[in-house]
Amino acid sequence: MGFTEDKLDRIYQRTEGRCHICRNQLSLRNYGTLGKRGAWEVEHSKPKSKGGTDHMNNLYAACIPCNRKKRNSSTTSARSTNGYRCAPLSKVKRGENTVAGGVVGALAFLLVPPHLRLAAVVVGGVVGAVVGKSYEPD
Ligand SMILES: [Zn+2]
Repeated sequence: MGFTEDKLDRIYQRTEGRCHICRNQLSLRNYGTLGKRGAWEVEHSKPKSKGGTDHMNNLYAACIPCNRKKRNSSTTSARSTNGYRCAPLSKVKRGENTVAGGVVGALAFLLVPPHLRLAAVVVGGVVGAVVGKSYEPD
């Protein structure tokens, strides 16, 4: 396959080293080695046969059984057979979202007059949640 080690590493880290469909733990060095513990492949969220690309936002790590089983079906239906809707989020990304949401909330708070701050807390929380959510991958 045409992926550099660096790209494989980034794809692997995207889901904290877990299969994006069944969430089993994968082994980075067992990439493409069918039969080995944690063996995995790069999965195209949108299949190449349907116009999917090799861009990072279309690539996920998947264990070989999931990848082979998925074939040309959609990511959403493959995940839902395992009871999941989204890809696992990396811890780093979750942390950043929380910080970003908090900063937006605090700034909103400072911009309003004191007698309106209770409302501002509510609005700030909502804005923060929306901002945090918009950074999530599909
Ligand atoms: Zn899997």
